[in-house]
This record gives sequence, C-alpha cells and structure tokens, in this order.
Amino acid sequence: MLEVTFSKNAFFPLTRTCRNECSYCNFRRSSTEIMKVDEIRKLAKSAFSSSCCEALLTFGERPDVYPSFRKELKNLGYSRFLDYVVDSCLICISEGLLPHTNAGVLYKDELKALKPVNASMGLMLEQAIELECHFCSPGKKPEVRIKTIERAGKLKIPFTTGILLGIGEKEYDRFYSLEVLADLNENYGHIQEVIIQPLVLVRGGRGERKVELSEVKRVVEFAKKLFSHVQVPPNLFSIDEVISLIKVGANDLGGISPLTPDHVNPENPWPKIESLKRKLSIRGIALKERLPVYDDFIEKGWYGEKTAILVEYWLERIRHAR
Ligand code: SF4
Repeated sequence: MLEVTFSKNAFFPLTRTCRNECSYCNFRRSSTEIMKVDEIRKLAKSAFSSSCCEALLTFGERPDVYPSFRKELKNLGYSRFLDYVVDSCLICISEGLLPHTNAGVLYKDELKALKPVNASMGLMLEQAIELECHFCSPGKKPEVRIKTIERAGKLKIPFTTGILLGIGEKEYDRFYSLEVLADLNENYGHIQEVIIQPLVLVRGGRGERKVELSEVKRVVEFAKKLFSHVQVPPNLFSIDEVISLIKVGANDLGGISPLTPDHVNPENPWPKIESLKRKLSIRGIALKERLPVYDDFIEKGWYGEKTAILVEYWLERIRHAR
C-alpha cells in the first residue's frame, strides 16, 4: 500500500506585518497587530486538546523594521521581535506542542536562538531567480534566501523548504531551483522535505490556482528524483488531483489543521483528516501522521533541545495510534 504522511498542526500567525511586499501576497497587512501571549497560550491549549502535535509559527519577515511595530512590541515588553518569537515557542512547548517556525530570512545568531525551541524550521526558497513580483521584497532575493538555508544546514536544523509555482518563472527555472536546493542538501543533509506549492490568488470565493495540474506533476516527478520527501498541500488540489500527485512521487501532505485556517491561502479550507484518510484508503493509499521533524532527523537528534521530551512523547503517541 502506498503511504503518505501529514502533521496535525495549529497555525499561529504571530504578525502579518512584513518588510516585504510580494505582489501576490494573501497574508500581509499594513496593521502592526501582534498575537498576544494569552491568545498564543489559548490556541496552544486547544491545539493540544485536539491532538495537534505541531505549532506552526508563520509570520511576516522582519516586522520590526517599522517604528510603529517596534512601539507595539515595546508595549508588550520586548525590544526585539526575535525574543518574542522565542518566548512564543516556549509557551507552545509548555502547552505540549512542537514548534516549527517560518520566520523568513535569518542570520546565524537568530537561527541559533531559535534552534533550541524548535523541532524543525522552514523557509520557502520560492524560486532561485530574480522575479518581478519580488521587486519590493528585499528578503526574496534568491541569494539571501539561499544563504539562510545554508546557515540552517551549518547549524544542523532540520529544514523544510520548497518552491512556489506560478509567480512568473519558466518551467526550467523550477527545475533549476530544485537543483539549487538539492546542492544545499548535498552539502549539509538538512533538508527534510521540499514543498511544491502552486500560487493561489484570492478571488472572493474559492482561490484561483495559477498553474495546471500537469505542470505540478512534472515538478513533483523531478523533485522526487532529488529528495526523499516531497510535499503537496492538500487544500490546493481536489482529492483526485492529490492522488495523481501521490502517484508521481508526492509522499507528504504537510501540516493539516483541525482548528485553524490556512492563513496563507484563506479561501482554501483544509480537508477533514478522517474523511481524507477514508478517501485515500479507498484508493489504496495509507495516510500516516508524522511529527514536524522527520524520523531521520529525530534519530540524528537534530531537533531543538527544549523539544526533546515532547519529541519522544509525540513519537510514542503517534506510533501507538498507527
Ligand atoms: S514575504 Fe510572505 S508575508 Fe511578506 S509580503 Fe511576501 S508573501 Fe507576504
């Protein structure tokens, strides 16, 4: 029987303030709102009660470049957003969740501060070439993102990355971008999975996907030659499309939340896990739960030291449930 994995999570959008202005973004807001500590704790508690193992902390990049954001942060008692992120991870850990942080581009000392409080971390490469949609996004310069992924490798951080399709790249750019990621993985061995994600535009109803299924299939097929784990998000495809992607090599469906929306693709609700499991099983595919950090990296002990007890706890719990 074919197998495909997923991680049960809750999405913590710590802030939507972002220094970048990608032309296709569904997430960024001009307000300087920050998810407060009591909101984080409350969501973490309900996530644990709903058997979610992962706290997905995803937010705008370097929001503290804005004085108004720094003022908001100061009211909360912090001078650096990084410290707020570390404390948010600690709250999630204290409530029994394994943090997986996507913080955008980071320097070595920032990655070092986040590593102990994260089971794994992530940063989408998107594409390894300059694109017009990133004209106002200094953090989307390919060399800056590649450098962050490289730094994570040097620090032995289990890392999720991937490419975004339909943002103005050509087909050969997609293959080139995956080769760039494969080179990084060859050097550092830290890339636990690559996400193949089509751009979806908000249209006031169901989001509109910018690429054809046949294109995604070709990219998945190529990615599977380079990486052991290839992820496709199940809320951006129909069930038949998901199955066809699994048949050409996708073997992970990423984080699925029973609690929180996909804030990045707000018009595409998550499938219900039990129903997805049934639909896949009828087609001969077993849906298996995993942690945000993959087994290979658990064996190597690369997860953050403050998550160690929880990694063991969730591993046992998930294995027992299988
Ligand atoms: S970096 Fe992310 S949140 Fe910021 S503008 Fe670009 S897509 Fe939006």
